[in-house]
Amino acid sequence: MERPNAWLKYSEEDKKNVFDFAEKYRRFISDCKTERECVKAAVALAKEHGYEDLADVIARGKSLKAGDKVYAVNMGKAIVLFHIGEEPLENGMNILGAHIDSPRLDLKQNPLYEDAGQVLLDTHYYGGIKAYQWVARPMALHGVVAKKDGSVVDICIGEEDTDPVVGISDLLIHLAGEQMNKKASQVIDAEDLNILVGSIPEKAEKKDTEEAGDNENRPAADAAKKYLLAILKDKYNIEEEDFLSAEIEAVPAGAARDFGIDRSMIMGYGHDDRVCAYPSLIAQLEVSNPKHTAACILVDKEEIGSVGATGMHSRFFENMVAEVIDRTTTFSGLKLRRCFANSNMLSSDVSAAFDPNYASVSEKKNSAYFGRGMVFNKYTGARGKSGSNDASAEYMGTLRKVMDDSNVYYQTAELGKVNAGGGGTIAYILANYGMNVIDSGIAVLNMHAPDEIISKADLYETYKGYEAFLKNM
Ligand code: MN
Ligand code: MN
Repeated sequence: MERPNAWLKYSEEDKKNVFDFAEKYRRFISDCKTERECVKAAVALAKEHGYEDLADVIARGKSLKAGDKVYAVNMGKAIVLFHIGEEPLENGMNILGAHIDSPRLDLKQNPLYEDAGQVLLDTHYYGGIKAYQWVARPMALHGVVAKKDGSVVDICIGEEDTDPVVGISDLLIHLAGEQMNKKASQVIDAEDLNILVGSIPEKAEKKDTEEAGDNENRPAADAAKKYLLAILKDKYNIEEEDFLSAEIEAVPAGAARDFGIDRSMIMGYGHDDRVCAYPSLIAQLEVSNPKHTAACILVDKEEIGSVGATGMHSRFFENMVAEVIDRTTTFSGLKLRRCFANSNMLSSDVSAAFDPNYASVSEKKNSAYFGRGMVFNKYTGARGKSGSNDASAEYMGTLRKVMDDSNVYYQTAELGKVNAGGGGTIAYILANYGMNVIDSGIAVLNMHAPDEIISKADLYETYKGYEAFLKNM
């Protein structure tokens, strides 16, 4: 049983819609490379679509009714949107969920140092990476510096054409005899992922060189670091100590690009999982008069286990649903529980696209293929489905009807061969409420590499799938 290819069903007009949607997405991931940047962009889009900040609604004591649209932001790194439906909330919501954090290199709290006249930033990688993929390539720095006075400085270096880029050096092949014999996991030590950011030494004061009895053209200790700190002070008004309260992510520099001579794909950083987050968000913004309340939740920290205040394990979503119930009717704990238990969710995350270069890790009948549309994973997990949310057959049956009725192309898949490996998502967390949840999403090549690849047809079918889900579940 082989699923059909979506490109074959498209008229010329359909194809234009596929490419237009993909172009909007390409710009989104080119501009939004951190969870914070994704949330900022989502808030701007939500406001354009008539959404109000739930905090303002609560502050004004305003009630909510069918057709009203609200959003709530969690610490700038996660967001939930609600479009109130005709049915009372206790009858359940239709929820789209995805994550907006991606693998990257985070600056350490005390990152800046100088060695051999080079100024470097020490990092601690975030999420699962093959360290050797992150060296010898242009990188950008994105993030915030929170100062003691409460102000927060936004940092973004390396994205404009006129910006400098930064990056991590690799050993020249001429001297790499020993390195080339190492296991791939040891080729680059994680502690050696240090980002080169400067090399001009500050000129020494006349007095210092005299005291050292030295040539005035020989730099004093840490002179290049001092020179760089002067630039940071001048440009961002930050001091070295301000790194203590900063969140700066080193990510691949530059825009995502059309990929393939036929332009059927997009290569870029952070498809995992913005390729699901973006169409989820757009489907949520565009749905009209939903019967059940439509909700979209975009969360942080999936790549490190959905932990912390801004991950899916946080009470944030539950608290916001409680607030919305409180605005639409009288709140009760029982209504909240019923609301969750009666909900349906598409928990979206990327799937491994079948890769003919590495066919041996996949089982061909149960793999995700480029062009065959939205992917449903009844279960994920590893070693005998361990850690999986195993969606019920009945729920999958209902979804088949919803997708087929809207002519959405979809496929089903597992992440690789049995016992080849595995991975987790946020699905099992929401399933704890007793709601229907299934893993769904989009197939990706090069998952977790600095540049990942997706199919534009899969992106479009998934967007249409989300639309059908919010309208017809
Ligand atoms: Mn993911
Ligand atoms: Mn991932």
